Amino acid sequence: MNRAIYPGSFDPITLGHLNIIERALDMYDGLIVLLAVNPGKSSLFTVEENLAMVREVISRWPQVEVDTTTGLLVDYARKHGIRQAVRGLRAVTDFEAEFSMALTNRSLWEDFDTVYLMTSAEYMFLRSSTVKQIAEHGGDVSRFVPPVVEARLRARFNH
Ligand code: ADP
Repeated sequence: MNRAIYPGSFDPITLGHLNIIERALDMYDGLIVLLAVNPGKSSLFTVEENLAMVREVISRWPQVEVDTTTGLLVDYARKHGIRQAVRGLRAVTDFEAEFSMALTNRSLWEDFDTVYLMTSAEYMFLRSSTVKQIAEHGGDVSRFVPPVVEARLRARFNH
């Protein structure tokens, strides 16, 4: 089975992430959404909350699963016998950080590749941090996130 890993923080998952998942499913038989847990990085939702939201939105695709790791992506990938990661590219500003991350992973495992998928134009400016800011100030995020995420954001910010 030809599988890939889609790693990220997904705090929370947005329609931009879902767009990348859909595109990746045209290329792979299976996909693992991998929530990278970084205790040093502050997040709005707990890992369990983000996991629950991802789990709910991917339930429409039987070939997609979600998992978490506190370790290195390449270690997780090797353990699961997967040699490819999928990442989304928005603007050219994403490129530099992604390029260095991909090459760092490659230096840890020579056979590991990162595949980049371009976002749809409508999601070009969409990122989790922007969604959190809009929700914090009571703005409408229904165009940016699935309903389960919108509800959680509303509950979190008491709107
Ligand atoms: P980060 O890795 O910066 O914490 P995320 O975890 O939010 O970012 O995102 C995981 C992956 O999804 C990254 O490759 C990121 O570029 C991609 N991504 C996030 N938002 C979008 C979007 N609107 N369109 C396409 N790709 C996106």
